[in-house]
Amino acid sequence: MSERTVLATITCSITRHPGVGRFGRQGANLELKGVSRQRPGSVLPSSGSRTKATGGGALTLSPDYRGCPSCVVRCTQCHQLACWDSERPIFECPLCGLQAEVRGVLTEFSALDGG
Ligand SMILES: [Zn+2]
Ligand SMILES: [Zn+2]
Repeated sequence: MSERTVLATITCSITRHPGVGRFGRQGANLELKGVSRQRPGSVLPSSGSRTKATGGGALTLSPDYRGCPSCVVRCTQCHQLACWDSERPIFECPLCGLQAEVRGVLTEFSALDGG
């Protein structure tokens, strides 16, 4: 079992704080294990290669995950990941301000280089 950690930026849609999410491969799924919050205003490295869940997998949250989101979504406009409270019917992107209904299952996102 070779497990590779994947890093990607996740911005909180509630506090608008940037963070770096850590994902591990769990079978076909990419499981979010945790997010390190960054200081507001800190510049995160831009996204690099595209990471994809394989074989019908999706992005899931680890049972150990203790962050605020109940779900992680990817903005269809700026393609960045953000946490989203699934109690809210509408997702508002903390980065570009897009407001949209959340649809479908997240299966790929842009990972940070060097992870
Ligand atoms: Zn959040
Ligand atoms: Zn956006």
